[in-house]
Amino acid sequence: MALIVYSGGLDSTVLLHKLAAEGRADGALWADYGQRHRREYDCAASNCRKLGVALDVADLSALRPLFGDNALTSAAVGVPEGEYAESNMRMTVVPNRNMILLAIAAARAIALKTDSIAYAAHSGDHAAYPDCRNEFADALDGALRLCHYEPVRLERPFINMSKADIVKLGAELKVDFSETWSCYNGGELHCGKCATCLERKQAFKSAGVEDTTSYAE
Ligand SMILES: [Zn+2]
Repeated sequence: MALIVYSGGLDSTVLLHKLAAEGRADGALWADYGQRHRREYDCAASNCRKLGVALDVADLSALRPLFGDNALTSAAVGVPEGEYAESNMRMTVVPNRNMILLAIAAARAIALKTDSIAYAAHSGDHAAYPDCRNEFADALDGALRLCHYEPVRLERPFINMSKADIVKLGAELKVDFSETWSCYNGGELHCGKCATCLERKQAFKSAGVEDTTSYAE
């Protein structure tokens, strides 16, 4: 069984459906770490309700001032437009976010007597996000096996898959992609212009799966 670190984004929603289909979804954890909007939470709550998976919420919003200037948690930094490039992707890094979220998920897993946690890092994340790399996941898995009396394992089934592969898997699992949120801007609709919107569009195109997302443009 596994507890899923669940943002309500496309990747982690496919992960939730995969583990639920395998009968291994023991719960999900969503965190408020001071991000700009709660659109992802609405998606997370809806998917968990649909699948009958318990959703825990960690309120980490008090940490926001500690994260400095980045486009996700600081009102002073604008969300970059255009495709991911070295200069704009670094602006979207919340320092050490995955380690923080995975550490809290491990604590929750121990409390639930679940021996595993899972996150949806994929190969396209590696370049942009150091805490989505194989080396990071391997090292953290090693530490989690030692953090309690019984080992906790870190599952990362998508780590060598592309986002397009994840879209294909999601289509097979009949994921309602309209109930997933990617955009860094939290408007009524996906903006269609920020790096993560462009990545989302491209993933559907590469996967040959219809993109049912409503984009503002
Ligand atoms: Zn966007």
